[in-house]
Formats: sequence, structure tokens, C-alpha cells
Amino acid sequence: MTLRLFNTLSGQVDELVPADGKALRMYACGPTVYDYGHIGNFRTFLQIDVLRRFLKLTGVKVRHVMNITDVDDKIIRNSAAAGIPISEYTPKYVEAFFEDLEALRVERPEQIARATEHIPQMVELIEKLEKAGAAYKTEDGSWYFRLSAFPEYGKLSKKDLSGMEDGARVDVDEYEKDSARDFALWKAVRPGETSWDAPIGRGRPGWHIECSAMAMQYLGDSFDLHAGGEDLMFPHHENEIAQSESVTHEPFARHWMHVRFLLVDGKKMSKSEGNFYTLRDLLLKGYKASAIRLALISVPYRHQLNFTFDSLTEASAAIDRLRTFHERVTKGSFAAGENEEIQLAVKKARVEYMEALANDLNTAEARAPIFDLLRVSNTAIDQGKFYAGDREAVLGVLAAFDAVFDVIEDRDAEPTRRAVEWAETSGRQADVAPELLARQGLTDDAIETLVAERTQAKKHRNFARADQIRKELAEKGIILEDSKDGVRWKRK
Ligand code: AMP
Ligand code: ZN
Repeated sequence: MTLRLFNTLSGQVDELVPADGKALRMYACGPTVYDYGHIGNFRTFLQIDVLRRFLKLTGVKVRHVMNITDVDDKIIRNSAAAGIPISEYTPKYVEAFFEDLEALRVERPEQIARATEHIPQMVELIEKLEKAGAAYKTEDGSWYFRLSAFPEYGKLSKKDLSGMEDGARVDVDEYEKDSARDFALWKAVRPGETSWDAPIGRGRPGWHIECSAMAMQYLGDSFDLHAGGEDLMFPHHENEIAQSESVTHEPFARHWMHVRFLLVDGKKMSKSEGNFYTLRDLLLKGYKASAIRLALISVPYRHQLNFTFDSLTEASAAIDRLRTFHERVTKGSFAAGENEEIQLAVKKARVEYMEALANDLNTAEARAPIFDLLRVSNTAIDQGKFYAGDREAVLGVLAAFDAVFDVIEDRDAEPTRRAVEWAETSGRQADVAPELLARQGLTDDAIETLVAERTQAKKHRNFARADQIRKELAEKGIILEDSKDGVRWKRK
């Protein structure tokens, strides 16, 4: 099965296969580590995670490179305000970023590349650009890309750049204006700013050159896929193409994937709008990491997604259903044999699930057959018409679902525990939901002990004590379920 993915460059849905027939070489723009990431940023990283997990599920090997932008205007500004060098300012946010990715179960790319560790490669690329007539130095010692040297500029974003001012320049890392400008490749040293010695003069790299240099270093001059959020299409990705292709005269990336924004009340979630939530904000409110993951991936990447708390509640309920079902199928005792109807439902669910993902990663459509299977299987179990052979088949489909969605196995306690711990050391105690604080104090062993005590109390007809324990646990977010096979408990 081959993934068909929208390609911003061709403007159509194209098949995505490794050009070398071995591994899919992909580059995704990583975070700028000047602060904690918000869940809009994580929507993009999660959707890229869906992509790489689905490729692997279809048997494609992936070589995924992600950069860490650990030098840029914002980092320099913030570290100066904090009175520390950037090398002391960024590590905290790099660490936080990886912790957040782990909480959201985003797989690590095969290669992480930090900008500050690749300065020589960037300088070398600027030197090559100069030789190609595409870079020039200004009086202050900065270097700019000469846009007029690359007539194909604009081919990715399809912007009409006919009004382009020849020679007009821009030196800030981020700009959103529709007009194209010669952009900074290297910024001459300024007093008090981090800089590096280089044959092209002392200075620091611009943001765009970083991705071109690191992508080509690890993936070669031409590779399969480049991905990022939709805001990066212009100018960042357009500039990457210009810088790379002016030197190599080969297509930089063949396929471009852009994840649409996470919105709040119709506006892009962003630091500058002040309308953002970090992952930690939501964990401290009591939402589970898995529910945040599911909510952010359930709307396909080609659609903008309006963030609501209801979507987290819905995701949480969906996960509960999946987990309860998974446990029922795993732990239940079923007679040998198969139910033909279930076997057919399994085949149908698998085909529909894979087809939906192969069709431009349609995660919303991919979920539906899984829940259909859950319903028919539950009915069959209720009626005693579910057999051991059905168990194997159903678990196989759930495994394929979780290979991409990864929410069934309950690993939610740890990220929440870490977030509460972080809040306590970062002056954010007031933001921790009270029920979370109560729940934190309760280990699995302590719960088991209380549950056993309740069972004993019921046996001795001490219903007052049994009820008291149930109530006490409920207040701490622990739910008890009495069933034929004994008492099950779960964290809300
Ligand atoms: P940054 O750390 O700002 O460089 O952003 C990291 C990634 O998050 C980039 O791929 C951005 O395009 C993406 N991004 C930023 N804001 C949003 C948003 N509201 N929704 C989805 N992706 C976003
Ligand atoms: Zn980039």
C-alpha cells in the first residue's frame, strides 16, 4: 500500500515513495527554543508523527531529520533580557520540548540537528552561493541572498511576486509580508550578541540557511520530503529552496507537506496573539496526555482545527472506550473457534482503516471503522458469540490502529506526574487542578490496598466502610467498576 499525500509543490496529491528504493529521507522543521512550545506547535509535530508511523506501518523505512533552532532573533532577544548567553538560555527549552514530545508519544526522529552545531556547514553554503552569484555582502558585513538570481522563487507558495522590489532587503528572521525581499544569510556581529568567527566575517546565521545546510548535510542535495507548519511555506521554505537549488541545480525536496494551523476562536494559536495553551497548561488542568494527542491528530492535517476543551473531553471518552474494549478482549475467556461475522468485520475494518490513512492521512475517516468494529465485537461478546480466533483478529486491528494513533496503552500517569512536579518547581502550583493534587498522592499500591479493603468490607457486610472507600477514591479521581471477574479501577 502506497501513501498518497498532498504535495504543496506540485499542487496535487502524489504518491510518496523513497526515490532510492530504500529509505524515505525526510526533513521537518523543528522548534525555535526560546520558550515552551504551545499545542499549535505540537499539532504539527504530531501530524508528522502520524506520517512517519503510517509509512513504517506500510513497511517503508524512514530517515527523518529534525532541526533545533537554537539561535535566532527571539532567542538572542530573550537571553539578553535574562542576562545570560544563549548557550545557557536554550537548554531548558530543548529539554522541555523533548519531554513534551515524549508525553505526547511522538517518536524521535532518527537525527536531531542543532543549528549552533552546524555553523561551518552554513558558512560553506554561503560561500558556494557567493560563487554562484546568488549572495552578496553589504557594507556592515552581513550577507544577503540575491533573489533576482533565482527566477523560480515563489514556485512553492505560488504567490504572485511580480511586484517584487529588486534589491529590497529584509534582515529579520520571520516576516509575513507578501512581498519578496533579499533575505539575510549571515548577520554581521553586533555588540553583545552571540557570533562566530568565519571566513565570511564574524557573525551569526540567518534562520533560513540553517535548514538548507542541515537538510543537505544529512539527506543529500535532493531528498524525498520536507515538512512543517503552513506558516513556514512562505518565506521560510521558499527561501530554503532558493538557497539550496541555486547551488545544486537539483530539486531540493521533491514533496512538501504543510500542516494547517491549530486555531482558537478562528485565529492561529500563537505566542504573539497570547491565545495559546502549552501542553503543561492542559496537563495541569487534568487532561490526559493521550487525550491531547488524540484530539490533535483526529482532524486530518489538511484541515485547520479549532481548539476546544470539548474536543479533549470527547477524545478522553473515546480513549476510555478503546481501553475498556481492549481489556475486555484481552482478558476475557473465549471458547475456541471463530465467528464468521466478526472475521468479516475485522477484514473490512483493516482495509478501511489503511485506505483512509493512505488517502492523504485521513485520520478522521481512519477512526470510524475501528469504532464500528468495537461495537459489533461488544455485541458479539454480550451474546456469547465471540471466540478465541476473533480475539486474535480484533487485537491485530487494534495493534495496527495503535501503531499510528498510540493511545490504547495507558501511560498517562507519568506525564501528569511530571507536569505537577514541574509546576511545583516553577511557581505554578496555583495552576494545578485540586483533584490532580489529591490523585498524585495516591500510588497504584495504595489504591490496590484500599480496593482489597473494600472487597473485604463488603464480604463482611460492612457496606458503610465499602461505600466510604469508594467515595474517598472517587474524590481522588479513581473510578471503581464491579464486574463478574472482580473489581477493576482506573484513573479518571
Ligand atoms: P516554531 O517553534 O515557532 O518555529 O514552530 C514550530 C512548528 O510549529 C513549525 O512547524 C510551525 O509552522 C508550527 N506552528 C506554529 N504555530 C502553529 C499553529 N497554531 N498550528 C499548527 N502549527 C503551528
Ligand atoms: Zn526550517
